[in-house]
Amino acid sequence: MPVIAVDGPSASGKGTIARALAGHFDLPYLDTGLLYRAVGLNVARSGKDPDHEADALAACDFPDILLDDPELRSEAIGGLASRVSVHPSVRAALFDRQRNFAAHDGGAVLDGRDIGTVIAPDADAKLFITASPEARATRRFKEMMTKGEKPSFDNMLADIIARDTRDSARAAAPLKPAEDALLLDTSDLTIDAAVQRAIALVSGKLQAAG
Ligand code: C5P
Repeated sequence: MPVIAVDGPSASGKGTIARALAGHFDLPYLDTGLLYRAVGLNVARSGKDPDHEADALAACDFPDILLDDPELRSEAIGGLASRVSVHPSVRAALFDRQRNFAAHDGGAVLDGRDIGTVIAPDADAKLFITASPEARATRRFKEMMTKGEKPSFDNMLADIIARDTRDSARAAAPLKPAEDALLLDTSDLTIDAAVQRAIALVSGKLQAAG
């Protein structure tokens, strides 16, 4: 059964696409960003410093119940996740959990930043999902408006660019496409069109591999 790696920056559509691929191919799905978000939330709640490696590492020992906390999905926790994720010891502490998931006998879909490069370099199909910062900020903006919040578009765009820069520039497992990743730019695609395109790309890759 196949392992499918889906990487890309925030609000690129990778989560929606990865979930749809898991449904289409009937595979278990892991959103690895949630693990980093749980570390970010844990460090914040314990009043510790996310930029201090030992504090962030201590926060990796979080209870599984934290993964169901709705606060994990907030922009603020996304920013904290990006800060704790630069520490190599934090990445190492979360490695086995992700690798074991990818090694499921029945195959798996994982999404994140380093799935195709570090966690599952032998994945059967790798997608790298991109979209322009403006398209991604517009998506986040609309999403927050529907939640009744009144975000500033400029702040949202600045946050997205700051997170991209931190994720791409870090030394440990930076955000970058694997050499054998298939690229999908969703800037001008609807969700449905992006999902259909992703299914077609992965199906083609799996068929080619026999
Ligand atoms: O994907 P999501 O926005 O939930 O990820 C939050 C943050 O966690 C990212 O900005 C990134 O810094 C970090 N992350 C990572 N490696 C992963 C998944 C997420 O470094 N595989």
